[in-house]
Amino acid sequence: MRAAVFHKAQDLRVQDVTEPSPGPGQVKLRNAFSGICGSDLHMYFAPESTGLDFSRPHPLTGSELPQILGHEFSGTVVELGEGVSTVSVGDRVAVYPIYACGTCAACRRGAQNACRTIGFHGLSSHGGGMAEFTTVDAAKLHVLPENVSLELGALVEPMAVAWHAVERSRVAAGQTALIVGAGPIGIGLWFALRAHGVETIVVSEPSAGRRAAIEKVGATHAVDPTAQDLAAAVSSATGGDGVDVAFDAAGVGPALSSALASLAPHGRAVVVAIHERPMEFAPTSLVMPETSIEGTLAYLPQDFDAVIAAMAAGVYDTTGWVDVVPLADVERTILDLRAGKGMKALVAAQ
Ligand SMILES: [Zn+2]
Ligand SMILES: [Zn+2]
Repeated sequence: MRAAVFHKAQDLRVQDVTEPSPGPGQVKLRNAFSGICGSDLHMYFAPESTGLDFSRPHPLTGSELPQILGHEFSGTVVELGEGVSTVSVGDRVAVYPIYACGTCAACRRGAQNACRTIGFHGLSSHGGGMAEFTTVDAAKLHVLPENVSLELGALVEPMAVAWHAVERSRVAAGQTALIVGAGPIGIGLWFALRAHGVETIVVSEPSAGRRAAIEKVGATHAVDPTAQDLAAAVSSATGGDGVDVAFDAAGVGPALSSALASLAPHGRAVVVAIHERPMEFAPTSLVMPETSIEGTLAYLPQDFDAVIAAMAAGVYDTTGWVDVVPLADVERTILDLRAGKGMKALVAAQ
């Protein structure tokens, strides 16, 4: 079968590999679509920047490079391994890609998404979504309802990152929010906040193209922080109070600073982006208004279920921010995304 295989930095080949067959408890999937995400770009340019250690076999999965990419993917069940009864051949599914140890401090606290030896199917395992077929444990499958397309199915994973961040914010219906950064995760935050009953959402994004994309799905308060007064926009949208929750989906110091400065008393800032550099920060700014900062990573299985239910309810729209590309174009698309061309690309595996 054809697969996009990562060998080492800047060495990604679409090549023939052996077609897998499912072991006990596994299923074989005919992959449909697989998103290219920021971690794939990190992997391609500087694998060590993913935080995964490729110098030795992964402690949970035993996998080593080369690695088939694709951790945000959908597919159709084509074969059941021994003992699988929870899904049927023909089911269309999204795959929860996390491997967790189950015993570390994070896992014991119910946070398998923060497992200290976390692995991902399509980054550190025996396969991935950017191939014609893959095998995964049946327990990783989330069946898609009939009205959720396989394209949306491949977006469940990145949308679940944003959904989990919104859960971490503990925002309530009728409260107000700021999203800093309108990339794919920022757009996911917008959909997840709407699904949580948040109507007043200010978006800060310097790129005109990204502002246009989030406006196209319905955002009404998109501000260019380099040319407009973000504080004034937040103030006018919230009657001078500030926002209840703010999300840093940009990963640069000024993004978190503006998120903190926009908070109402008792507001919470949630960091969902990866910062490549440290920043200067004044802890006293949290003291006077009793505000707080939370981190958020990936998602739990229930976030997948919640996103799929919201997709079935029609909350999500791919207009204007999602492109589909053939498997043969993975490397070129990674270079395009790095150069700022396009927002979210789905690789068609067939
Ligand atoms: Zn990803
Ligand atoms: Zn663990």
